[in-house]
Amino acid sequence: MKFEKPILVTKPIAPDREEFLRRVEEVIDSGWFTNMGGQHNALEAELARYLAVENLSLFNSGATALISALKALDLPVGSEVITTPFTFAATPHAIAWNALNVVFADIEADRMTLSADAIERAITPNTSAILPVHVYGFPCDVEAIEGIAKKHNLKVVYDAAHAFTTELDGVPISNWGDITMFSFHSTKLFNTIEGGALVYSDRNLGKKIYELRNFGIKVFDPDEDASEGIKNKDFVSNIGINGKLNELQAAWGRVLLKEVGTEQKRRGLVADAYKELLADIDGIAVPELPSGASNSFQYFPVLFRSEAVRDRVYDRLLAGNVFSRKYFYPLCSDFSVYENLPSSRSSNLPVATDIAGRVLCLPFYGDLQADDIRSIVEIIKSGID
Ligand SMILES: *Cc1c(COP(=O)(O)O)cnc(C)c1O
Repeated sequence: MKFEKPILVTKPIAPDREEFLRRVEEVIDSGWFTNMGGQHNALEAELARYLAVENLSLFNSGATALISALKALDLPVGSEVITTPFTFAATPHAIAWNALNVVFADIEADRMTLSADAIERAITPNTSAILPVHVYGFPCDVEAIEGIAKKHNLKVVYDAAHAFTTELDGVPISNWGDITMFSFHSTKLFNTIEGGALVYSDRNLGKKIYELRNFGIKVFDPDEDASEGIKNKDFVSNIGINGKLNELQAAWGRVLLKEVGTEQKRRGLVADAYKELLADIDGIAVPELPSGASNSFQYFPVLFRSEAVRDRVYDRLLAGNVFSRKYFYPLCSDFSVYENLPSSRSSNLPVATDIAGRVLCLPFYGDLQADDIRSIVEIIKSGID
C-alpha cells in the first residue's frame, strides 16, 4: 500500500479566502500595518473572549512569548528553572535565552507531563521557577504543581502550545500558573501563520509584558507618570524584544478563529475512527486524557511496545508515503547544547527516555478521509507484526 500523494502529519487550516482578502484591503487602506493596530487589538479581545480569560497579550511567535514570559517575572540571573525534556526545543531555549539554568526533571508515564515528585526532587535553594508543558494537550498535574510552587515560593509558567481551548472540569487551563503561553504557529490548531500569546491573571504583569513585547519602551501611565512626565532616560525601561504581531497576520487569525470549532469537531471524528481501528491491535496504545480534561485535538500520539517496533512502523509508513512524526524524539536533554547538564543523564529521566523511544504522532487533521485512516492503520499493523 502506497499513497499516491503524501499524507503529512498535519494540514493547517486557512481562513475563508474572501473574508480574509477583504480584511487585507482594510489593512492596506488603514495605512497601519503593525504596532498594536486595529486588527491586532480586535484579535486580542476576540481571543480573550474565546478562551474565557481576562488578560491576553499577542506575540509574533510562541517562542518570543515564552522568552518574554520568563523575562517578565524578573527571575534572578543564574537561578534554576525546572522543565520537561519531553517537549519542543523552544521550551528549554526560553530558559537559556534568559540566562537562567535549565534543569530537566522526569515526566509521568500516563500524562507524559512533568512529574510532581520529580519536580520536588529537583528543587534546590537556587530554583526560581517551574516551566511545565501541557504536552499534546494533556493537562499537567496542575494542582500538585501549584502546591509545590506555593510551598517553595516558585513562579510557574505553562507552555500550552498544544492546549488551545483545553479545560479542566470546565475551567480554562490558563487558570493555573503565573503565565500561560499559547502558540499560533501554522502547525498548531489555531494559527496566525506565526504567532503566540501570553495569558496571565495578575493585571500588573500586563503593562510589563506590553513593554517587553515592544523593545521595553515605556507605556505612559497617567497616574504614575503625570507629575514628572517621562524622563528621557526612562523612555526605555527594560530589555525588551520585538514580539509584535502584524496586522495581516492578526486579520488572518480573526477570520480563522471562526473555523476552529468546526476543525476540532472534524478532528474529533478522525480521532474516534483511529481509536476504533486501533483498539484490537496488540502492541499499540492510545494514551487517555486525564478525567475532566477536554481534548484540544492538537495531535494524535500513540505508544508502541518497543522502540524497534515504533521505528519499523515509522519506516513502513514512510515507504507508504505517510509522514508520521517521532515527536518528541530525541528528548531536549539529548540536544548537544543540553546533553552535558547534570540533569540530562538518562538515569535522571527514565520515563521520558522510555516514552520518547516508543511514541509516534500519526497524521491528524480534519480533512483526513476515513479510507485513508483505514489504509494508515493497515500499514501500522504490518509494521507491528
Ligand atoms: C510550537 C511550540 C512552541 C513554539 O511556538 P512557536 O510559535 O513555533 O514559536 C513552544 N513549545 C511547544 C511545546 C511547541 O510545540
